[in-house]
Amino acid sequence: MAGDVNAPSGAGLTSPRLRRQMVERLRARGIRDERVLAAMASVPRHVFVDEALASRAYQDIALPLGFQQTISQPYVVARMLELLSQGRRLRKVLEIGAGSGYQAALLAQLATEVFAVERIEPILAQARENLRSLRLHNLRLKNADGHLGLAEVAPFDGIIAAAATPHVPEAWLEQLAPGGRLVMPKGDAEQFLVVIEHTPDGFVEERHEAVRFVPLLSGLGAR
Ligand code: SAH
Repeated sequence: MAGDVNAPSGAGLTSPRLRRQMVERLRARGIRDERVLAAMASVPRHVFVDEALASRAYQDIALPLGFQQTISQPYVVARMLELLSQGRRLRKVLEIGAGSGYQAALLAQLATEVFAVERIEPILAQARENLRSLRLHNLRLKNADGHLGLAEVAPFDGIIAAAATPHVPEAWLEQLAPGGRLVMPKGDAEQFLVVIEHTPDGFVEERHEAVRFVPLLSGLGAR
């Protein structure tokens, strides 16, 4: 990918050094997957947040995206990527809830092909804008309701959801290739990260840490 073309000149608050410090904090909090850490070190998070918030881009906090949506905190993003990839190179991956495009850009470092859907068109337009300078040729974005997955390009060996639901949409399981993994925040008021793996014996679910995500909503639009 392109280097730091977006680092505003003289902006020490968005420098590669801060990004490396963010990565060291992720390592200290227990993220072990070197490919995930390398991806986090290379993708400039400040490009994906509002300019007014850029100076906070490398703190381990969630930040607002507009339309009551948030870009997840770096630790949770890294943890989900680690649970998804398990040190393997992924082939085809689907992200539900592209938001700012940040996690999609990270996925594009870890997978051969990435598809990301987002239900709010103006958020998607902003994501395209954010992603432009990174020139990622293996990432496709679509304005769609992620409940349906993306049948036209399924099956996926990884599906990652950035919005929470207590019920796993049927389409996600149907579109998971054998050996594939789905990582999602499951629940509503109380949520946990879960991994669902498509094994020869069926779908096996593992529960991980408690999290707090925006809800998976139905249909298109910003309501
Ligand atoms: N991965 C994003 C975080 C996005 S927050 C990032 O890195 O910035 C969750 C996103 O999921 C929001 O943008 C929200 O609009 C979107 N979303 C919620 N329900 C959805 C659905 N059914 N289909 C597609 N996107 C959905």
